[in-house]
Amino acid sequence: MKGFEYLDSELEELKVQGVFRKLIELESDQGNRVIIRGKEVVQLSSNNYLGLTNHPRMKQAALQAVEKYGVGTGSVRTIAGTFTMHEAFEQKLAEFKHTEAAIVFQSGFTANVGVLSSLLSDQDVVISDELNHASIIDGIRLTKASRKIYKHSDMKDLEQALQETQNYRKRLVVTDGVFSMDGDIASLPQIVELCEKYDALVMVDDAHSSGVLGRNGRGTVDHFDLNGRVHIQVGTLSKAIGVLGGYIASTQSVRDYLIHKARPFLFSTSHPPAVTAACEAAVDVLLQEPELIEKLWNNTKFFKKGLAELGFDTGNSETPITPVIIGDGGLCMRFSDELFHEGVFAQGIAFPTVAKGKARIRTIVTATHTTEDLEKALGAFEKVGRKLDII
Ligand SMILES: *Cc1c(COP(=O)(O)O)cnc(C)c1O
Repeated sequence: MKGFEYLDSELEELKVQGVFRKLIELESDQGNRVIIRGKEVVQLSSNNYLGLTNHPRMKQAALQAVEKYGVGTGSVRTIAGTFTMHEAFEQKLAEFKHTEAAIVFQSGFTANVGVLSSLLSDQDVVISDELNHASIIDGIRLTKASRKIYKHSDMKDLEQALQETQNYRKRLVVTDGVFSMDGDIASLPQIVELCEKYDALVMVDDAHSSGVLGRNGRGTVDHFDLNGRVHIQVGTLSKAIGVLGGYIASTQSVRDYLIHKARPFLFSTSHPPAVTAACEAAVDVLLQEPELIEKLWNNTKFFKKGLAELGFDTGNSETPITPVIIGDGGLCMRFSDELFHEGVFAQGIAFPTVAKGKARIRTIVTATHTTEDLEKALGAFEKVGRKLDII
């Protein structure tokens, strides 16, 4: 079909830069090893931190929900698509997070867009870390409030932004809990103190910290012992929780407000029963199998130590997300291809997902990796690193 020729030059440019990628197909489930193009490789690219995508108890819960309630809900929540299980799960989430209430969205992306686009008016301002996730950026694009960006985790810059915005009705400071491309943790205690000093609201997006940080994986707020001092906690059910979805844990009034105003909630259909049932079972798994989180962190320490000993630049990571910084986008993609050749799947990530010149292999170890998996991966990194003159 004719009409899209104008896209060709941009696509060609991606190819010239060596960053044009075909989607990679998994021919297996999402495990510690996956099958890609018929080859078994160690998976270092998933967000399946605890291996919950295949947890027997969650699969069972999903199957039972399908048998009892079917495969879809047939409506948005506000018209005829709220099931008893949706409400029960939200109550369970709120209890788990030690908040008054919780509300689930179709994804972490829609949770951020839903809350940021609806909660503020043109009398307000949102103050955002420059490295916040794309869904926060897009949510901010949809708000009527003014915006201010502060330098990544720079508390002086944040304080200046708070000083310059004292005339607004409300200030909302928003940060990722764990930054998704670098694996560093937000300076949440300092952010909370500044926001208390300047009477601003705090919102933290715990997509990469749900199931990873805090007691039983409750997230960064619990990790830093800040329960009751962060106004809005966003979580995802798509990463460590292993299923799909996002949620806001906050006050009852925020929940009530979002039910009436958040557009993804109002205009997009609710989660199928299998999704909600599996997510609900995941909370029980977090409470009853804390050894999964312990294993995740032991694997993380082992792998980080190995990469550091080999001499790779892994930035400021403090979590299971460990970037191996390569620099040039094309070289990074080649590194990833060579790793695959050696039996390891770790995606290269280049501009625009990260800054130009900061292309990286992004690795995430999980609780399901065996020592053998991690040793194999380190061996591959060593071989390719030497071959491409990175170490
Ligand atoms: C992945 C991610 C999201 C989106 O979550 P989904 O449930 O996959 O839509 C939101 N925020 C951050 C910080 C993320 O890393």
